[in-house]
Amino acid sequence: MIVVMKLNASQEEKERVYQEVRRVGLRYQAIEGVERTVIGVIGTLPDTRKLSLDVLPGVEKVIPILKPYKLASRELKKDNTIITVNGVQIGGNRVVVAAGPCSVEDEKSLVAVARSVKESGAAFLRGGAFKPRTSPYSFQGHGESALKYLAHAREVTGLPVVTEVMDTKDIPLVAEYADVLQVGARNMSNFSLLKELGKQAKPILLKRGRASTVTELLMSAEYILSGGNMNVILCERGIRTFENGTRNTLDLSAVPSLKEATHLPVFVDPSHGTGKRDYVEAMSRAAIASGADGLLVEVHHNPEKALSDGEQSLRPQDFARLMQSVHRIAEAMGKSVLSLDEERSGLPAAGAQ
Ligand code: PEP
Ligand code: MN
Repeated sequence: MIVVMKLNASQEEKERVYQEVRRVGLRYQAIEGVERTVIGVIGTLPDTRKLSLDVLPGVEKVIPILKPYKLASRELKKDNTIITVNGVQIGGNRVVVAAGPCSVEDEKSLVAVARSVKESGAAFLRGGAFKPRTSPYSFQGHGESALKYLAHAREVTGLPVVTEVMDTKDIPLVAEYADVLQVGARNMSNFSLLKELGKQAKPILLKRGRASTVTELLMSAEYILSGGNMNVILCERGIRTFENGTRNTLDLSAVPSLKEATHLPVFVDPSHGTGKRDYVEAMSRAAIASGADGLLVEVHHNPEKALSDGEQSLRPQDFARLMQSVHRIAEAMGKSVLSLDEERSGLPAAGAQ
C-alpha cells in the first residue's frame, strides 16, 4: 500500500508510520518527493495483525497498490527515477549509450574500443568478464583479469563500466570493479542472485529474460528494490518467438509498456535483440523513438575474430554512424544524447528531473 503523507508532515509523524509498519512485521520504502513524502509499505500482513495507518497524525491517505510489483510501480512514484553513476545521469532527458565488446578479450583491445566508443559519444563502457554461454565449451570470459582491464579502461577514458555478475558468490568481486552490475537475460529469474543484489549499493542493469513477460521483468526488479537497492535500470534485449530471421525478436512495445508501468529507467539492447550487425542501427533509432532512456550496444574492432557475438558487433565506424543517427532521433523526441564531458563539466543536465 502507499501511505501519502500530508504536505507539512513532520519527521516525527513519518517515524510514527515507520514504527507502526515495523511493529506488524512489514517493511517500507520512503520516497521523498519535492512536495511530500510517500511511503511504500511492502510484505504480507499476518492474519493476526491489524494495521491502521490512516488514523495516524500527518497521514493524508492510504491507497492500495493494485499491481503485483509495488516499489517498481508508477502508482507509488510518479516521477521518473534518475540514477547517477560517476556523475552520469540515467533516466533524465538525455539518452545514455553504453557500448563496448560482448566479452573483454585483452587489455589493449579493450582500451582501444573504449577510446573509440567514447570518441563517438558513448557514456558507458560495456564488456563481459563472466560470460553466460549456451555451450560450456564456448569462451566463458576472463573473470577477474577482465575486471582489471575494465578498471584500467575506465581510468584511461573516464567511462564508467557496466559488466555482468552471474553468481551470488562473485558479487563482492564484480562490485569492486564495476560501476553498474548487469544481470543477464538468463539470470533474470535467479531470485537468490536478485535478493543479494538488493543488499548492495551499486546500480543494477536488469535484462529481460528470453521467455519472460514485462510483468515478470518488473517482478524481478521488485526483488532487488525490496532488498533496499532502488537503483535498477531495466533492459529490453529481445525475446524468443517463432521468428528465426533474427536471433531474438526485439520487443519495442515493451518500452512504452514499461514506461507506463514503472518509474525506473528503460534501456534497449539492439545487439542481442537482433543478432545482426546490419539491423542494429535501425533498431537503435527505433528504440529511442519508442521512448528508451538508453542503449546497450556491442562494438568490436575486429568482429570476425571476436570471441563472442561477432555477428552482432558493430565496427567502430558503424558505431560512430549509429551515434549520429541516434542524435537526430533524440532531438526529434525533445531529448539529447548525454555527452560525458559536458555532464561532468557541471553544465546543467537539460530536462533532468
Ligand atoms: C550481454 O549483454 O553480453 C549478454 C550476455 O546479454 P543477454 O544476457 O541479454 O543475453
Ligand atoms: Mn553478447
